[in-house]
Amino acid sequence: MSKFLSKKYAKLSPYTPGEQPQDMKYIKLNTNESPFPPSEKAQKYAAEAAAKMQLYPDPECRALTEKIAEMCNLSFENVLVTNGSDEILNFAFMAFCDDEHPAVFPDISYGFYPVFASLNSIPYTEIPLCEDFTIDITKYFNAPGMVVIANPNAPTGIALSISQVEEIVKNNPENVVVIDEAYVDFGAESALSLIPKYENLLVTQTFSKSRSMAGARLGFGAANAALIQDMNTVKYSTNPYNINRMTMAAGLGVLEDEEYTRKNCLTVSKNREYTKCELEKLGFEMTKSLANFIFIRHPDFDGKYLYEQLKARGVLVRHFNKPRLSEYLRVTIGSRDEMDAFLKTLSDIIGGGNK
Ligand code: PMP
Repeated sequence: MSKFLSKKYAKLSPYTPGEQPQDMKYIKLNTNESPFPPSEKAQKYAAEAAAKMQLYPDPECRALTEKIAEMCNLSFENVLVTNGSDEILNFAFMAFCDDEHPAVFPDISYGFYPVFASLNSIPYTEIPLCEDFTIDITKYFNAPGMVVIANPNAPTGIALSISQVEEIVKNNPENVVVIDEAYVDFGAESALSLIPKYENLLVTQTFSKSRSMAGARLGFGAANAALIQDMNTVKYSTNPYNINRMTMAAGLGVLEDEEYTRKNCLTVSKNREYTKCELEKLGFEMTKSLANFIFIRHPDFDGKYLYEQLKARGVLVRHFNKPRLSEYLRVTIGSRDEMDAFLKTLSDIIGGGNK
């Protein structure tokens, strides 16, 4: 830390992204990326847009915002497109929280929520998940501030139904409720259809997972027009050109290729169910994940041990060194070949293991 760092950031502990090692070629099942390349249309449009890089992009991001709004059965005024969904989440913390309006989220969830709160000097409350990692929705009724719930949750993959989400929204008339749907496309129900009914609901989604665009950084928030306007105030006060030309064009391309996205999501869901079945045969236990990752533990093997052994053999998964999580591994669902290689490596480790 330099002597110049502002006091307000002195105690900030930043988010730790999953490893992106450059030393060797791993089977990468640690950051929930898509195993499929981006849509060819997305690649083509992005390449064409690169030829106009000397010009600023459209700060309104109008064409893409309209296209996303159409996909969500909403209007332009209901959508704000951002640099990954991390950006819309940060905008929500900035716009809707302060000392009197803290943030409220599960104790086990996306690790960025407490960081966004700390970054913006916002107090927060973490509500413990139940013993089986599910969310007791009643604990979020009439919350003290903005509620943030990932649905499906991370790293468990467990999803709430749309009626459970609606109960939370209905029972928080004085708070914004953020439903982070980063992983919704792999089998869970989206809350987008509730937006016309509730002025306090913000749904966030990303192009990073189901649309194979993690490297382009594209996400969005959908909500009542007034909430979007508030977050636009934050956007235009930080980075009006938050979406670059190439990403904007790629976003339009992939939305013209919905068939490709649907097919890939289906393949991931099938590979997930296949992997779960095979892991059960190896004695693993797991949560009921509806995401593009699974959350698994073996009664006889420590999570950290398995993580290290897998890494040594060229397979990267995610291990969280935290209470209640350390026995587990979070494993991204890749292609069938990747999952077979993972299963074979894991079976070798536990077959010959004496830990
Ligand atoms: N929400 C959750 C629950 C996530 O796991 C992630 C991915 N790390 C994000 C949001 C943000 O993803 P992105 O910024 O790539 O859209």
